[in-house]
Amino acid sequence: MTGRNLVAMVVVVLCLTGSVGVARASAEPAPWGTATVRGDISACADAATPMDNVVCAVALTRRWLEHTGHASVVRRTVEVSNPAAGLTWNPRNRDICVYAELGTLLNVGLHHCDTTTFFNRNTDAALIRTRARAVAAFAHESSHGVQEAVGLTPVSTTIFGPVEDLRRLELASDCWSGAAWSWYVSSGLLTVADRIEATAFMYSLRDQASHGTGVQRGRAFERGIVEGGAACDEILGRPAYT
Ligand SMILES: [Zn+2]
Repeated sequence: MTGRNLVAMVVVVLCLTGSVGVARASAEPAPWGTATVRGDISACADAATPMDNVVCAVALTRRWLEHTGHASVVRRTVEVSNPAAGLTWNPRNRDICVYAELGTLLNVGLHHCDTTTFFNRNTDAALIRTRARAVAAFAHESSHGVQEAVGLTPVSTTIFGPVEDLRRLELASDCWSGAAWSWYVSSGLLTVADRIEATAFMYSLRDQASHGTGVQRGRAFERGIVEGGAACDEILGRPAYT
């Protein structure tokens, strides 16, 4: 999600909702216009479709968060319908949480806020095409949940900057994804070949001021693999993951 997209999205959502929150993301039902996706580890073995990759990634992310004591930072993963949009307030980190898929006008796609990971299978087609990509992407998103749990505000930082702060949040999240991958492989849940594919994917990501260059992202991911969560704290500039 780019900053410019997010700014446009907030404007559109505010117009659509008359600045009144249309859903409380922390309430039990999935936010308006979204459907909960349940993880299933068995989907990892014979993933055949992009949605299988998502179901696998959701299950693995859950296991990783439980393993590291961060289970509460992702309460659910939802697919956002098109059209659908919403804006909620997260009292825990005092930040807004938004989502929007509005035809081809506005497609926010994969992101995380207020303990919820949002995605759309069409907007995020490139991210969920393979199992390795999906697993890397959803682990990255869970990092934003960890950041929110320590009071950081990834959504506001995406919208208002400064861009250096946002890049730190994003590269720390790439690192966190690498740390997850190290554990997935050592636990026998995924293979070294899978991890090599994920690493190549991270290096292939396009350069963005907000997220860093592909090389920076690949390096942050590899630091996570080799050094674990402590390296991600270092990139973030404060304790959060350990
Ligand atoms: Zn991110």
